[in-house]
Amino acid sequence: MEQVTSPSYVARMMKERGLAAKKGLGQNFLVDRNIVGRILENAALDGESWVLEIGPGLGALTGPLAERAAQVVAVEIDRELAAVLREVLAHPRIAIVEGDALEMDWRELLEDMGWRGQPLSLVANLPYYITSPLIMKALESGLPFTSIVVMVQKEVAERMLAAPGSKDYGVLSLAVQYYAEGSLVMKVPRTVFLPAPKVDSAVVRLLPRPPKVSAPRKELFQVIRAAFQQRRKTLRNALKALTVEWGLGLEQLDGALARCGLEPGVRGERLSLEEYSQLTEELLKGV
Ligand code: SAM
Repeated sequence: MEQVTSPSYVARMMKERGLAAKKGLGQNFLVDRNIVGRILENAALDGESWVLEIGPGLGALTGPLAERAAQVVAVEIDRELAAVLREVLAHPRIAIVEGDALEMDWRELLEDMGWRGQPLSLVANLPYYITSPLIMKALESGLPFTSIVVMVQKEVAERMLAAPGSKDYGVLSLAVQYYAEGSLVMKVPRTVFLPAPKVDSAVVRLLPRPPKVSAPRKELFQVIRAAFQQRRKTLRNALKALTVEWGLGLEQLDGALARCGLEPGVRGERLSLEEYSQLTEELLKGV
């Protein structure tokens, strides 16, 4: 397979095929081989592994992934790129699937391709315009990913890995903590992409594991989403509508907050995942 992670290759392919990078699809192609290497190392693949790649682009990650994995299933929304990839990366261990990764049923797709529960990783240089929904989809998919290694905008990486009390802390941070151990692999300057985006990026690794908290997932995330819907509100005010929906009165909300040792004026951004879990369980006692 040809070495596709170079500025000259990308420029040549675009010119030869009459392609232009589509900004609206987040097309910024990675042209740095060392970063590809770091992403691969962190995905920790072996000859049994299957990889779901979102947005293969011109194949910077796809070929190297196929050299280590049993099978790569790469979902690309851009018809022109999918056609180029099928030709350039024709390889028995690579399946290029054309479509919108956000809309697809990933389990069905993988099973159609022959996946039968082998170790599975998600590896992607994600398109910027749908980073958070794609990460949420990966976390909530119920698929047994052994690792999720993604390149995202630096700001999204900060949100994914934020701790309580910081300005970046929110639903995405809590979802990452609920489903996985997250860590920053490396910061990535904008100059390693063609065309260069306006922001820097970062590679984040998530190692999914069973949740460490006991509140039921659906209600826990209802509480978390309500708490962050209007960040400037106190937690008590932010949760009023939800508790009414659950058939609880204000006294029950106040009682649950008090039993969790939470001050009436506290804001949602101060609470840890464990505190959200405890609060959800206290609220559910009244339902
Ligand atoms: N993996 C390549 C690389 O590292 O050079 C390209 C990464 S580029 C940041 C994102 C890629 O995702 C583009 O090829 C774009 O066409 C594709 N893409 C955008 N939206 C998509 C979607 N909803 N489903 C699948 N692919 C998508």
